[in-house]
Amino acid sequence: MKLILLGAPGAGKGTVAKLLTKIDGSVQISTGDILRAAVAAGTELGKQAKAAMNAGELVSDDLIMGIMGERLKEDDCKNGYLLDGFPRTIPQAEALKVLLADMGETLDAVVNIDVERDVILDRLTTRRTCEDCGEIYNVKSKPPKEEGKCDKCGGAVVQRDDETETAISNRLDVYNEQTAPLAGFYEKEGMLLTVAATSSDSVINAIKERIGI
Ligand code: AMP
Repeated sequence: MKLILLGAPGAGKGTVAKLLTKIDGSVQISTGDILRAAVAAGTELGKQAKAAMNAGELVSDDLIMGIMGERLKEDDCKNGYLLDGFPRTIPQAEALKVLLADMGETLDAVVNIDVERDVILDRLTTRRTCEDCGEIYNVKSKPPKEEGKCDKCGGAVVQRDDETETAISNRLDVYNEQTAPLAGFYEKEGMLLTVAATSSDSVINAIKERIGI
């Protein structure tokens, strides 16, 4: 399947994408993960993206389209892809439309995962991530067995630089201003499926029903 997962930071796009990959071998493509890996590796891309990311701002459309123009042509995309965190602006959505048309591809749907701001703020400020393997924890609902240490790989479990209260609040404002308008964009294209994020399973079921799998 070929889907865009829309939704504010913390709406659960990544969790839903990971579950969907198990259904038909589609790959999850998270621009946030690609950028974090570049920052950790200290590449030129990482250096260009780091300041904007830590402030909760968006990285430039040109940089993102450069990454995605390459990524969508890789072999593992042949079974389908779940775009998680991309597109994030109207110019990115327009550039993606051109890119897909050039590649002769069409998307199955754009899934808008809807969650209230209060729920997201609470979820993100209490979220912790393993620096090494990316495993997600939560200080309230899923703490690591030993504080600060990953149950799976023993890596350091930390708060992401962009998950402090100030950065999160900024990310949500940026989302409302620059990304939320994409729902209207894709509604006009007849591709939008809005789902309340009551649980990952309910989101998955709504997607299955919509695209007939
Ligand atoms: P995420 O993990 O998807 O919340 O992304 C983390 C950060 O990476 C965002 O706050 C942005 O700074 C940057 N980022 C990820 N995807 C994009 C995108 N499509 N456009 C611009 N910036 C992005």
